[in-house]
Amino acid sequence: MAATRRGFLSGVLGPVFTGASIIDQALFRAVRARAQASPALPELFDIEKLAEGVWSAIAKPQTLINSNAVIFENARDLLIMDTHSKPSAVASLVRQIRARVSDKPVKYVVASHFHWDHSQGLPAYRRIAPNADLLASETTRKLIDRETVPRLKASFETLRASVDDYKRKAAAAKTTAEKDGWERMRRETGDYLREMENFQPELPNVTIERDLIIHDKNHDIHLAFRGRGHTGGDVVVYCPQKKVVATGDLLHGFFPFIGDGFPLEWPRTLLHVAEFDFEKIAGGHGGVSPRERVHQMGNYIEEVTELVSRGRRAGKTQAQLETEIAPSKLRTVTDGGYGPSTAAAILKLRRLPPGDHTVDSVLADGVKTNVGHIFAALGKNV
Ligand SMILES: [Zn+2]
Repeated sequence: MAATRRGFLSGVLGPVFTGASIIDQALFRAVRARAQASPALPELFDIEKLAEGVWSAIAKPQTLINSNAVIFENARDLLIMDTHSKPSAVASLVRQIRARVSDKPVKYVVASHFHWDHSQGLPAYRRIAPNADLLASETTRKLIDRETVPRLKASFETLRASVDDYKRKAAAAKTTAEKDGWERMRRETGDYLREMENFQPELPNVTIERDLIIHDKNHDIHLAFRGRGHTGGDVVVYCPQKKVVATGDLLHGFFPFIGDGFPLEWPRTLLHVAEFDFEKIAGGHGGVSPRERVHQMGNYIEEVTELVSRGRRAGKTQAQLETEIAPSKLRTVTDGGYGPSTAAAILKLRRLPPGDHTVDSVLADGVKTNVGHIFAALGKNV
């Protein structure tokens, strides 16, 4: 290994460069350049202890969203759920874990589902920990294999157009804050595009159909698939002794993303997850939630799906329903904590474009997007 490559990144990534191919090295060139230009990788996560030996890493706002991670500290090693949108986010998290949580090796990495913001860090874990098991449901493995590269390639065109758009908006900005906001989005999107240019996905090497239990000296860890919801293959990771469940995007702090979802089945899947005896929910986005959220989110999806379904039967269009089904009409948003807690999480933890964002505007955007996706999903007859 060249002396210039020693130091920061070899410390973070361990044997990354010792056995890395030319392609691997190219993949990390952007990361290395940034690491050398600044004394440290940016800290992309806030790490919070949930219970003895269980930690959540809450993703800080980024233009290209990162998923949260959950870290289970076993007697001799670590299990980490979810891998973010890019390899450099894994490098950043592992560095934070080393500083804050543990220096035990990573032995298990779980991809909760196939989406880019949860699975595109898998190759980085494969390099950091060549003998670790990368786990997912069999469906998720198939979807990563089929969808990751075409979706990433398709996103490049949109993202390049966004970079130009942010540049124009920064030039036309009327205040320094606005200009800085557009500039930051341009920079973060450009960095992502450069890093992901030669990306090669990594497939999970262990898959589960329904349950897998790891019996560790410190605690048991259950990986469980309980039905379709956010995608066809979401798994949750549950620790009975610590009463924590890591839920990926099946259950989290933002509005659900239903673009690949099964809204008629999702609430029922959440009821099955609720059979586990947990107190804390560490979801894929937003902060840590109390147990009630499993019912709040399930009831919300059920209510919106029922209204969209009724509207479709009455011959209404998607645009009509997006206008009609306002947050103020939804019992699950106006009563109880779901609406306010979701809006607060989005305002705090999403990178929103410069401009005025309020609880009402965030709720309106979220519900409208969900109505559109549910309308499309019901049309697919799945
Ligand atoms: Zn996600």
